Amino acid sequence: MTITFFSAQPYDNDFFSKANTEHAFDLVFNTHALNEASAATVKGEVVCAFVNDNCKAGVIEILAKQGVKLLALRSAGFNHVDLAAAAKYQITVVRVPAYSPHAVAEHAVALLMTLNRKTHKAYNRVREQNFALHGLLGFDVFGKTIGVIGTGNIGQVFCQIMLGFGCKVLAFDLVANKAMEHIGVRYTDLHEIFAESDVISLHCPLNEQTRHMINAEAFMAMKDGVVMINTSRGGLIDTPAAIRALKSGKLGGLAIDVYEQEEKLFFRDLSADIIQDDTIQRLMSFSNVLVTAHQAFFTREALTQIAEITLGNVQAWQQGKPSNLVSGG
Ligand code: NAD
Repeated sequence: MTITFFSAQPYDNDFFSKANTEHAFDLVFNTHALNEASAATVKGEVVCAFVNDNCKAGVIEILAKQGVKLLALRSAGFNHVDLAAAAKYQITVVRVPAYSPHAVAEHAVALLMTLNRKTHKAYNRVREQNFALHGLLGFDVFGKTIGVIGTGNIGQVFCQIMLGFGCKVLAFDLVANKAMEHIGVRYTDLHEIFAESDVISLHCPLNEQTRHMINAEAFMAMKDGVVMINTSRGGLIDTPAAIRALKSGKLGGLAIDVYEQEEKLFFRDLSADIIQDDTIQRLMSFSNVLVTAHQAFFTREALTQIAEITLGNVQAWQQGKPSNLVSGG
């Protein structure tokens, strides 16, 4: 059975080829993204897509015409897939619901610590023999109030790490997690999270309820100088509102691994190009903004699990017992 990959990077080739020794699928790696043009080239029943591939209705329709029956996402998030179209064209959608939540939670902590203690600036300074400390002042994370929005697989690990730092952890989720409460996390509403938190970290999915949940009104309700971390999905934050909050000083720091328009930028070397996206350029011009390009998942452990689970999902579907279903069957 052939699996056609889109947006495949060299590391996808490495990890999937290794995991495939258990399966012997025919893996076709395309470095380009899935879109209407590339969908028309697919041969075979299975397509493997990543977070910034276009899985909208038009593309799904073309995939169906090409005979595709399974869309195997090598991601947890599926907000980029038109599930109604997949159902209409009888394409089953599967995903990797959980893989090393530690990878993403630890990256969120790395973003917080880098933004706070400015190690990225210190690294460059010291290399230029500038050993002065002015401009590098941070704060103790110990004793601070951390607001966590979404306490699923990743949010839980993030809460545990923050409790280990000696923080007070407030959380908001649709359902309170008893195990988290037991170790000291206190669930509350968004109003209190915004009003009390020194640092807010986002770990909920992007959907119609959560899109732009961090908007101008939310920033108004937050503490002056609050630090915001987003490793979840760019669309959770209204970016122009974040820029206004950074300009006014309301937002004291912003670290993001995800960005609403990231599909035009991330996972590519654009160092010789003129960036047309003025919003990200404005964001990156702030000294208290840190951007990484959707790398929170990028650990050996996570890539191993993503490859093994994705190929396992294809095998289970082939055997008529689909696992990790998003839709179809
Ligand atoms: P999960 O499904 O285990 O947890 C999500 C949690 O969010 C659940 O507890 C759910 O109840 C909660 N939730 C849903 N709607 C909510 C709302 N309106 N308000 C508050 N909470 C809400 O998912 P996860 O594995 O922890 O992943 C979380 C997100 O992280 C994913 O949706 C994905 O977008 C993102 N992610 C990013 C990367 C990366 O590399 N940056 C990698 C993996 C996942």
